[in-house]
Amino acid sequence: MKSADERIEQTAMQIKAGKYPREGLSFIAHIKGLFGQRLWFYNKTASYSDKLKISDLCVGCGLCSQNCPMGNIKIEDNKATAGGRCTMCYRCISLCPKQAITLIGEKVQEQCRYEKYIT
Ligand code: SF4
Ligand code: SF4
Repeated sequence: MKSADERIEQTAMQIKAGKYPREGLSFIAHIKGLFGQRLWFYNKTASYSDKLKISDLCVGCGLCSQNCPMGNIKIEDNKATAGGRCTMCYRCISLCPKQAITLIGEKVQEQCRYEKYIT
């Protein structure tokens, strides 16, 4: 079995080449995800969601909203607002050009995307 780092690097190279991995989309994978993750996580989202903060730095560009897998962020009056379905994936935090979104702490320490793994 490949180490996590090798796997991440391999995936990053695929993305760089324009081939987005599509693993975990089969019916069996969905069932596994439902029982192994989502059902359990749905009960947790309320407490996670409370921690998500969007600061005044937000300019309403919509990147977070377009990329949130939970549909948890909406743009209203040119500003992002979060609902109660955050599962702490950190996608919005890594994408926000203004570093306006935080989950733990008051400041974004690092925005990590696949480019980091491409040498
Ligand atoms: S990505 Fe950042 S700046 Fe853009 S709408 Fe979301 S919070 Fe606001
Ligand atoms: S951390 Fe993930 S699930 Fe939570 S609001 Fe951001 S993109 Fe959505």
